[in-house]
Amino acid sequence: SSQRKFFVGGNFKMNGSIKSIKEIIERLNAANLSDTVEVVVAPPAIYLLQVQALLKAPAQVSAQNAFSETSGAFTGEISPSQLKDANIHWVILGHSERRSLFGDTDKLVSEKVKAALEAQLGVIACIGETLEQREKGITTQTVESQLEAIANVVSEDRWKDIVIAYEPVWAIGTGKVATVEQAQEVHADIRQWLEKKVSKEVAETTRIIYGGSVSGKNCGELATAPDIDGFLVGGASLKPEFIDICKIKA
Ligand code: PEP
Repeated sequence: SSQRKFFVGGNFKMNGSIKSIKEIIERLNAANLSDTVEVVVAPPAIYLLQVQALLKAPAQVSAQNAFSETSGAFTGEISPSQLKDANIHWVILGHSERRSLFGDTDKLVSEKVKAALEAQLGVIACIGETLEQREKGITTQTVESQLEAIANVVSEDRWKDIVIAYEPVWAIGTGKVATVEQAQEVHADIRQWLEKKVSKEVAETTRIIYGGSVSGKNCGELATAPDIDGFLVGGASLKPEFIDICKIKA
């Protein structure tokens, strides 16, 4: 919708090198991105400063994760305030790979979201059902309970700093993209939930983006859905077609 700026996130996951990431960022810099789209790329933590130094506005940088505490004895973790200190203003939280492989439960995700907001970061908050949950007919329930855990720590005036990424787990990294109808249905559910549980204004202004095997080829059709306000792109964010995805609504 026109009151929600289209948002395209690029999640590099654990991919890339100093050299390949430099090339990806130079390609983005050369793309002449319009400021009618918000583009945010998330390299592995070790490359955040490199990307921050090289990337040109209006594109922005995001971390792929952050911890729920500010500092202390948490070996291997990075805090939201450290991201802020490094001029990184976004973080992806609750990604399905974090949830399934690294113990990011709804509770931990909510603690991380709370800490990120306290540090004044923007949060790309990921939710989505597994294939098993979809087949059992509990997609709505699953997504709503993940969303509720997050919403519990977001005060009404901070929703502007949240982007909800609906990422069906069965579509992530599988090449099996959701149909426009499947994605639109869940996005509409999420927006209705926000209207009922938070406010009409938050429902109308919060970006709900789709993730799961988005490509240069399939993004155009998905972008026509009224409640799809952008994409979180994994695999294709490393490729030249990411530019096409960034420009699909610009
Ligand atoms: C992701 O990592 O959030 C993602 C959607 O991955 P892919 O686009 O590769 O499915």
